[in-house]
Amino acid sequence: MKLENYISGKFVESDSGEWMNDYSPATGEIIGKVPKSNERDVDKAVKSAKEALPYWSSLTHNQRADWLDKIADCLELKYENIAHLESKDTGKPISLAREVDAYRSVKNFRFFANMIRDLEVEYFEMEDATNRVIYKPVGVGALITPWNLPLYLLSWKVAPAIGMGNTVICKPSELTPMTADLLMKTIDEINLPKGVVNLIHGDGKSAGSPLVSHDDIDLVSFTGGTSTGSIVAQSAAASFKKLSLELGGKNSSIIFNDCDLEKTVTGVVRSGFLNQGQVCLCGSRILVQEGIYDQFIQKFVEEVENMKIGDPSDENTALGALISPEHLSKIEEYIRIAKQEGGRILTGGYPCLPKEFENGNWIAPTVIADLSVESRCSTEEIFGPVVTIHKFTNDEHAIQIANNTRYGLAGSIWTEDLEKANRVAESIHTGMIWINTWLHRDLRTPFGGVKDSGIGREGGRWSIGFFSETMNICTKHD
Ligand code: NAD
Repeated sequence: MKLENYISGKFVESDSGEWMNDYSPATGEIIGKVPKSNERDVDKAVKSAKEALPYWSSLTHNQRADWLDKIADCLELKYENIAHLESKDTGKPISLAREVDAYRSVKNFRFFANMIRDLEVEYFEMEDATNRVIYKPVGVGALITPWNLPLYLLSWKVAPAIGMGNTVICKPSELTPMTADLLMKTIDEINLPKGVVNLIHGDGKSAGSPLVSHDDIDLVSFTGGTSTGSIVAQSAAASFKKLSLELGGKNSSIIFNDCDLEKTVTGVVRSGFLNQGQVCLCGSRILVQEGIYDQFIQKFVEEVENMKIGDPSDENTALGALISPEHLSKIEEYIRIAKQEGGRILTGGYPCLPKEFENGNWIAPTVIADLSVESRCSTEEIFGPVVTIHKFTNDEHAIQIANNTRYGLAGSIWTEDLEKANRVAESIHTGMIWINTWLHRDLRTPFGGVKDSGIGREGGRWSIGFFSETMNICTKHD
């Protein structure tokens, strides 16, 4: 499969004439060729978006909401195709690609269509004047996304961005370009006005960086790693671009003595290892109160070892492959560090798989105990199927450990005492906490982190706010 950029309503090759390989994480084979775009491609895409802006921004909210619904309808017909491509490109299990990736990609367009249709002008009456607050588009947006949830995260940005009247250039991860291409084909099929959505493929250095620094980009919405986010922030700040950063996480799952142990173990296994632990929200530090520590560990390890790892296209597979050989090496390095730091590996190693997967990026889910809460594996983002388990004594101790990282994205608390859960939740420096559940999303709620996990929030009215400029018009009465 040879992919092309999508600029001004046309699929075009990169000006560079260079290509990058797209590999299957499960088998290591080449499954596609991706253009390695450069700043000339970026320039063309930005020009196309800029030309499309006057017409697109002149449409009403209802008209743009209708376009979002058209995209959703057309994407929905490709539901199985989205799941298949996503599973092949990322190495994730097909069932997960269907239930999470395909489902949310369609839902994101429908959700924002409804939200934008329902937007109302706000009025603030004074004794002698009326204030009218309206939402205007920001302009041309750069939407940059990572490889772990490719279309899920891209659609989460495209829908509110164009819904609010902006025109955009998408830059998906070079490691997982397939479903971004499928979205462009969908957009082309429904004849969305040309230039409203453009896409350039390529890596961060040749394509992402010139896109962020381009003079005609007004807004940057970035989801990815914290160190990349820092580079993006510096580049965007130079010309005061509107900026949203959704970055890394190192999230704690806090398990109290009085939790429902069966449900908690199942929930915490899911939060530790969903998508091979490659979700920014994954609970990779598991804090267990001393009274149930041994019991929890025994049940947890049992359930982890029961997860089926292997062929991503098998409906019964729970864990697939890691995204790349480099990422696998990073995870192996962290496991080595854990051993050096005194960690005890309770389960892990390499899965035994059929020959067709021998060149893929595989590692078994790994559980590590006895590490200090200050250790590197307990505080740095590993972003793989590796969790560390720590013991705590009381509420204050759990809060202190949970706050002891540079990240502040999410977390979960497991207890039957909801008053305590809420009290503890409020003391944790993160953007999101789940109580007795994890990754239970209502798209109207704010999503995002504090500290090194990012700046700003996405979701519901927070996305609407970011992808628009609010303007107040004050009229004095006679
Ligand atoms: P990454 O930072 O390496 O890449 C993300 C995107 O940025 C890719 O498209 C990449 O090509 C591009 N990029 C790289 N360098 C760039 C530059 N200088 N300028 C502009 N763009 C550039 O991240 P990744 O490895 O793809 O994704 C994993 C990371 O993403 C993890 O840290 C994870 O926690 C984070 N993540 C966060 C969220 C969230 O919502 N907070 C969601 C998913 C993933």
